[in-house]
Amino acid sequence: MTIHEAHLLLKTRQLSSLELTEACLERIRQVEDRVHAIVTVTEELALEQARKADGLLAAGDTNPLTGIPVLVKDNMCTRGIPTTCSSKILENFVPPYNATVVEKLTDCGAVIIGKANMDEFAMGSSTENSGLFATHNPWDLSRVPGGSSGGSASAVAADEVIYALGSDTGGSIRQPAALCSITGLKPTYGRVSRYGLVAFASSLDQIGPLTKDVTDCALVMNAIAEYDDKDSTSVPQPTPDYTACLTGNLKGLRLGIPGEYFVEGIQPEVETAIRAAINKLEELGASIEEVSLPSTRYALAVYYIIAPSEASANLARYDGVKYGYSHKEADSMWDAMEKTRQYGFGPEVKRRIMLGTYALSAGYYDAYYLKAQKVRTLIRREFDAVFEKFDALITPTSPTTPFKIGEKTDDPLQMYLSDVCTLPINIAGLPAISIPAGFGDGLPIGMQIISRPFAEETILKISHAYQQATDWHKKKPEL
Ligand code: GLN
Repeated sequence: MTIHEAHLLLKTRQLSSLELTEACLERIRQVEDRVHAIVTVTEELALEQARKADGLLAAGDTNPLTGIPVLVKDNMCTRGIPTTCSSKILENFVPPYNATVVEKLTDCGAVIIGKANMDEFAMGSSTENSGLFATHNPWDLSRVPGGSSGGSASAVAADEVIYALGSDTGGSIRQPAALCSITGLKPTYGRVSRYGLVAFASSLDQIGPLTKDVTDCALVMNAIAEYDDKDSTSVPQPTPDYTACLTGNLKGLRLGIPGEYFVEGIQPEVETAIRAAINKLEELGASIEEVSLPSTRYALAVYYIIAPSEASANLARYDGVKYGYSHKEADSMWDAMEKTRQYGFGPEVKRRIMLGTYALSAGYYDAYYLKAQKVRTLIRREFDAVFEKFDALITPTSPTTPFKIGEKTDDPLQMYLSDVCTLPINIAGLPAISIPAGFGDGLPIGMQIISRPFAEETILKISHAYQQATDWHKKKPEL
């Protein structure tokens, strides 16, 4: 069920939030031993919130999210509920406060059903880097769901929950959405508050929804997108009604197709599906034109200097003193700190800390970090120029369909390439969505739609029109 379908049933009292929540909990019991998407199921809290929501609905509450179960990625702080980032170092961390997005959903009467598995500290593209366990793709359990919000995407695709929240630093909402055949939006940098989101790379991180269709995505955006003075990067822009743009009309919209995103090595089925989707958008009234973004080829290199650099600084706080795991058997304070990080962090996190520390060190800072920041500006300017002419850009989300679990774990560089189509968007701070656009050998393919800063409405409008005309998003995995 989607949010809007469930809301209709709740509003007309054909279904109670308690029944809906119990149905999700039952589904979790049925499939979770195969999917492994959830780190913590908050059953008691969910049932309590559902009862409360039923009271609100009875009193005439009309908020579309009231009484609807949601799963929150485990890097967003939830008061009284463990927030692990799927890391041993935070395994026992229970935050004393809620992230702003969690607070906002709670205010809407949402039912928090649990916390979603992820790549440790959101570093990865397959959820295999989770320090707890790997998540499986419901379309083929031997394959990855993508990452780092793989738990969120997998749970939504497997119908364990109605929708989920994820975070996206270089593709972590869009790539798993593509690989699980659901809808995932990364809003503009600064559009959704990140207060209470455990920081990975602060100039890139953004929170967004993972849903079953575009209408749901708009409904969640209405609830979470707002200026927040607790987040210094939050932008004071009024929140539009994101459902108002779902008109189905694409007449007059100019769409650009950047050739650079049909990268070398792209799986042929992905290219075929995306080209077919582009034809569909043309049929729906949009005009289509090829465009070039030549700096795209530097995006991967720029990202893997900037993201690890910021991560190395952000992760310095895990020292075994303030909170989180603390290694007690040590000879000195320094020894305790070293061992805490040695045993607390997994291999990918350590790799990033080493890369970032190196890129920021005296003598290398100018050659790597500063250079990367300059190229970042070039990439952003190139997008700015293109958006003077185009309303949106259409690309594949991921160059491949879901790969086998274990296939890329020994080759970090191969893993990094999974996000080659999504990273440039974070580098430029733009909004972008991934929506289902077909299948290759029965495995999901996602289309990415990118637009200018704060043009989420354009993205939602195009995606919605596409979903009105196709039914890829309605296909379900057999579990
Ligand atoms: N896969 C990319 C990385 O490992 C992006 C992750 C993300 O968006 N959180 O850094």
